[in-house]
Amino acid sequence: MGARPFTVVIIGGGFSGAVAAIKLLDIAAARPLRIRIVEPRPELGRGLAFSTPDPAHYLNAPARLFSIHADRPDHLAHWLSVQEEAADIPLPASGQLADAFVPRQLYGAYVRAELARAEAEAGLNGSVEHLRAEAIDLVELEQGVRVTLSDGRIIGGDVALLATGFAGNRPTFEVAATPGSRYLADPWSLTGRDLAGAPPEAGPASVAADLPRDGTVVFVGGGLTMLDALVTLERKGFSGRYVSVSRHGLLVHERREPTPARDFLGETHPGSARALLRLARAELRAIAAAGGDWQSVVPVIRARLASLWNGASPAERARFNRHLRRYWELALHRAPGPSHETFARVRAAGRIATRAGRIEDITADAQGAIVRLKPRGGTAHEEIRADLVVNCTGAEYAWPRQSGRPLATNLLARGTVRPGGLGYGIDIDAAAAVIAASGHVSNAIFGIGPILRGTRWEATTIAEIVGHATAFAEHLATTRLSRRPPAVPPAASSRASAA
Ligand SMILES: Cc1cc2nc3c(=O)[nH]c(=O)nc-3n(C[C@H](O)[C@H](O)[C@H](O)COP(=O)(O)OP(=O)(O)OC[C@H]3O[C@@H](n4cnc5c(N)ncnc54)[C@H](O)[C@@H]3O)c2cc1C
Repeated sequence: MGARPFTVVIIGGGFSGAVAAIKLLDIAAARPLRIRIVEPRPELGRGLAFSTPDPAHYLNAPARLFSIHADRPDHLAHWLSVQEEAADIPLPASGQLADAFVPRQLYGAYVRAELARAEAEAGLNGSVEHLRAEAIDLVELEQGVRVTLSDGRIIGGDVALLATGFAGNRPTFEVAATPGSRYLADPWSLTGRDLAGAPPEAGPASVAADLPRDGTVVFVGGGLTMLDALVTLERKGFSGRYVSVSRHGLLVHERREPTPARDFLGETHPGSARALLRLARAELRAIAAAGGDWQSVVPVIRARLASLWNGASPAERARFNRHLRRYWELALHRAPGPSHETFARVRAAGRIATRAGRIEDITADAQGAIVRLKPRGGTAHEEIRADLVVNCTGAEYAWPRQSGRPLATNLLARGTVRPGGLGYGIDIDAAAAVIAASGHVSNAIFGIGPILRGTRWEATTIAEIVGHATAFAEHLATTRLSRRPPAVPPAASSRASAA
């Protein structure tokens, strides 16, 4: 008789959940493994980032940086080379797909293809089941976990992996908007889909369709989310004016790929956000004096991010978040070439302006919207009249601020999880096991993806998620799957948290 399959329940079937399943199947399926993925979206592997139906929404770096297998950086380019849809990808000067920017929609297909490949290769030792529902509760039992689904089903497993990703954001300003008004809280609804990946019920797509072509669109934010919205509007034929409003009036940078700078950080931790800034500024001055490209410092800092974050005190992390984060995020998340071309064309035509300041409130109805702004450094209020306002401020990481998410509410209320650093996401230990409000480290509940923002900081990009998924699968393989279950299960242990 075969061994009972080890059951992993993955809550959230976006990129993080799917890559964790792929790694589990590839690494851990020496013993029968059953993976149950709870995900309301129709397709696994896409999540928020790769569900976009707009083919002009690109990954923000070349294909060679986005293989799902860190040991095979050319894997994605090889996969693309045999896909018909890849024929439309604009090739860079090198003519190589590895150097090209890939549409995110196609990248979602790559993730899905890899999931199917991993399941097929695991054969009888691995199965993946997609349960199309929302998980509304999760309880750790003496042995394993129990998950309650929105459709009333209750399922069990040996371990659960929380991969619930990004939640919509909650604006820091007042919004008075009637249903179907010219205020869009969800920027991706411009593409004709809402956050849950389903067709929108009340016409955001028609809001874009009805927009006067020469009207005014206000974007709240100036980063890559704004760029997605701008690209979609341009493709829909909008030819009017854009105003990007943000605290500091900053806008996306074009991505260039200069040779990385020398390792100016060395092995020692700078100790504070201010000292880090000093080191970076000195290096940037030297690079500028030598006629180099400031973007060459980005990979140097990025390579050290985990150790910089781990070695920083809570106060220094908060300082970084408050003062440096906006600059770092814009430096790291730069605009992919094809999207930047659209942006540069709009800017050259004088069709985009920026305003720095704090939005006080937005009122919107079916005809238009008014944004009330307190300009940076000024005292008088300014009003911007718009035909459409699109909130592009990005994700909300703080679980307590995520309204309408029963799972987060239940887990926090019961103390099964506790907020991570800076109040973002949830707290975990080095093996990604969830730490409860009591300090107890779970034996059966783990986390991955943007929900680890507060503990690991850089937990949201493809490279980090691939690394974290691989580590999770290896951890499970060595601690749980290398041996058959003992005849008499030991009592549930309670490891103490180091925190
Ligand atoms: C628009 C966008 C573009 C990006 N572009 C890049 C890029 O170019 N390069 C890069 O490196 N990174 C990029 N990223 C970052 C990175 O790809 C994402 O962090 C990653 O895709 C996160 O995947 P996820 O599965 O953790 O989260 P999500 O994509 O948010 O998916 C989470 C899934 O969980 C489901 N879910 C949530 N709650 C529940 C529940 N209670 N029960 C069941 N299911 C639930 C949701 O339906 C969702 O499908 C981008 C992110 C976004 C948002």
